[in-house]
Amino acid sequence: MQPSLEKLRKFFRLEHENKYTNTAIIGGLAKMLDYWEGEARADGITEEVIQAVVSRLRSYEKISPDGRAESLKGLWKRIGDTYPEAGQKPKPPQQQPQQQPRPQQQQRQQTPPPSQEAEGQPSTPRPASQQQQSQPQQQKPRQNPPPRSESVVGAKHSQTPAALSAALTVLQGVGPRNAESLEKLGMQTLGDMLYYFPRRYEDYSQLKPIQSLMYNDVVTVLGTVQSVHTRPIRGGKSSVIEVIIGDGTGALRISYFNQPWLSNRFKEGDAISVSGKIDQYLGRLVMNSPDWEPVEVENLHTNRIVPIYSLTERITQKWLRNQMNSVITYWAPAVVDALPETIKRAAQLVSLGEALTQVHFPDSQARLKLAHERLGFDEIFYLQMGVMRQKRDWKSVDGRRFPISDEWLVARLGALPFTLTSAQQTSLDDIRKDLDSGKPMNRLVQGDVGSGKTVVAALGANIVVSGDAQAAIMAPTSILAEQHYRNFINLLAGDGGTMQQSEIRLLVGNTTESEKEAIRQGLQDGSIKIVIGTHAVIEPDVLFKDLQFVVIDEQHRFGVEQRAELRSKGTNPHLLVMTATPIPRSLALTVFGDLDISVIDVMPEGRQPVTTYVLRPQERERAYSLMRAQIKNGNQAFIVYPLIDESEKIDARAAVDDFETLSKQVFPDLRLGLLHGRMKPAEKDDVMLKFRDKEFDILVSTTVIEVGVDVPNSTVMMIEGADRFGLAQLHQLRGRVGRGSVQSTCLLIPTREDATENERLQAMAVTNSGFELADLDLKLRGPGEFLGTRQAGYASTLKMASITDVKLIEKAREQAQALFERDPELSQPEHALLAEAFERFWGAGKGDVS
Ligand code: ADP
Ligand code: MG
Repeated sequence: MQPSLEKLRKFFRLEHENKYTNTAIIGGLAKMLDYWEGEARADGITEEVIQAVVSRLRSYEKISPDGRAESLKGLWKRIGDTYPEAGQKPKPPQQQPQQQPRPQQQQRQQTPPPSQEAEGQPSTPRPASQQQQSQPQQQKPRQNPPPRSESVVGAKHSQTPAALSAALTVLQGVGPRNAESLEKLGMQTLGDMLYYFPRRYEDYSQLKPIQSLMYNDVVTVLGTVQSVHTRPIRGGKSSVIEVIIGDGTGALRISYFNQPWLSNRFKEGDAISVSGKIDQYLGRLVMNSPDWEPVEVENLHTNRIVPIYSLTERITQKWLRNQMNSVITYWAPAVVDALPETIKRAAQLVSLGEALTQVHFPDSQARLKLAHERLGFDEIFYLQMGVMRQKRDWKSVDGRRFPISDEWLVARLGALPFTLTSAQQTSLDDIRKDLDSGKPMNRLVQGDVGSGKTVVAALGANIVVSGDAQAAIMAPTSILAEQHYRNFINLLAGDGGTMQQSEIRLLVGNTTESEKEAIRQGLQDGSIKIVIGTHAVIEPDVLFKDLQFVVIDEQHRFGVEQRAELRSKGTNPHLLVMTATPIPRSLALTVFGDLDISVIDVMPEGRQPVTTYVLRPQERERAYSLMRAQIKNGNQAFIVYPLIDESEKIDARAAVDDFETLSKQVFPDLRLGLLHGRMKPAEKDDVMLKFRDKEFDILVSTTVIEVGVDVPNSTVMMIEGADRFGLAQLHQLRGRVGRGSVQSTCLLIPTREDATENERLQAMAVTNSGFELADLDLKLRGPGEFLGTRQAGYASTLKMASITDVKLIEKAREQAQALFERDPELSQPEHALLAEAFERFWGAGKGDVS
């Protein structure tokens, strides 16, 4: 059965076990559609079946449990009509309806259950390790290989699924309204609560007495409110609230300006904690507008490290902390630890129960650190197991072989207008080997902007075409597609090339309908060998005679489904994805672990590194005159504005407004073009083409020019609001200049003067290496910058592990690899729990890379 149908079957069965409560997947069955559709298409499931699944699951939430049972059964029957092999499989299990978890009085009697709520409710679920352990044996003997997850695919975290997947309303004090608020925070079950980690901690275990405070200390002080005064300042226009707190060793004055409503929040005698910086006023130590919180008397909130959770409306810190406390105390120790003892010992990890307890209510900083380490380890470990399995799955099918002779290749290289750099040569060797390996290639070519990835892809395509098959290249914009198209023609169909121009075609959105029809025809009958285009190439009516090589340029610009769609147009075609976003090693190992990686880390000869300056805003004139000088020499310039989100009206206006000033007042004698994200694709292309053809001297633009456009004649780039960009993005932008042999310049102008010292901008001035910048950016801003659609999904599953923690990553990888070698299917009995936990982590919708 196709994997996507298999997956449906598992979820349906689980849903049946869950009595059609729409809980087989966290957030409801419809959630799986996010990724299932793409997977189903990749499996070649018919559109009718896909649509049937989509529409049933969309409405699933709204119907009654009885109706749901009918709906799923009907749907499965519908699938069986088209895919008999699916229909024949045993129906959702015939086993007994699962028992509701029962209190198990013999266990943990000493601890009171978290609640005794509600009439007629099933009793409070409790740790039921006994039941849980016996579960696997109760089932039918397993076939070979054992199914990976007969149960609990959707319940993200719990190791004791039945109990920990209980709704939060089982907790005392949590009614439907509070449950709703908690859901906003991502908590639906007790298990979710265990994994709702504190945002930060207040370490009351190391409070400073007021007596020993020093100027400039950043501290938390605990004290009792002694007096509260409001007094007008600046002639009554403003007011200041002064609160004196004391702790027995001294008194401290704290002030809040213009927040009159605070005055009734502080009551004499209340214990509060204030956190902030110690300042000085008229020779006395004070605190200005510190964060503050009422302090409760219980031990829970004082004299210890206290968790601070992110909140939402109707929920207070104290309330949540109390709820957490009861859930954690009771459930954390009961969680079954899926990680085998051997691995825990080898990696020196604490138990899961200990980690979950300590991460919420740490007994010391040291134990908190160990808790973080354990939880982070788990994340990387499961991620790694997943990418290894994916890699193996990739390699488990056959790929067509495309052997070529050395003579053939030498002749091809001889026909190129330049000699490949050593790095290009190595990447090409990798690709040549992959294409003759009998397995589908699954390779990422990573190379800085301008490093010359296109020619490598073109030669790969040429190899496949020489074996009588077809290639498709997909780029994110039509400008880029067109650029590739011209390159491919030059490289492959020029003097000494093996191809005819007519065998290489461009297919983009505004290709005429008759041309499109001709291309579709040619692809289907095989007379067209290479198609280069945008999303247009994945339209359903584009069909290939024999697609064997798929290239995705700027892969992070595409969604998982789009990549899968292109791939599904051939049978196990070889896949090459390319990116100019340097991926730091630690990240590459984790997130892209299922891909083979080739790195192009050498620039073609004759490139001059771009000289970068960070200017202060009032030095803008200097930038303008430098631009003028270059333009006088026949070169061109970019001026770029930050437009992080194209829907941000304010930024778009800034670019447009400045365009007015620039063209009317600053450069009235020059030709300026304007390019931004809200222009229609055709308009954008038009402006870009005019710039390329030198009809503009200066292109005023937002980040839409970021992606791979090659205009070697442009030698200056000025970036306004440079502090608002990530380093990776700045580097990408800068890559638009320095493509010819003329010395190029990049001028960074931060929004405000004090941002001039901004570490990131200075880094740009110091290095031209995308990799160095990427590492720094990762440290400063986290992984989001580097990741596309699926990859962002990965990173968001990393709540605890820092993607910069190379040591932890290596450790988790090592263990995952060793385990994978011993038991790749996790089929040994001692790995049964691990297999379940893995499936939960991995089953929650992490697609593959393409
Ligand atoms: P990117 O890796 O950013 O996609 P391109 O493939 O667009 O880079 O190449 C950038 C420019 O460098 C193109 O104009 C290309 O013709 C040129 N180029 C690529 N390889 C070489 C080489 N080995 N020697 C000289 N120029 C090269
Ligand atoms: Mg490129």
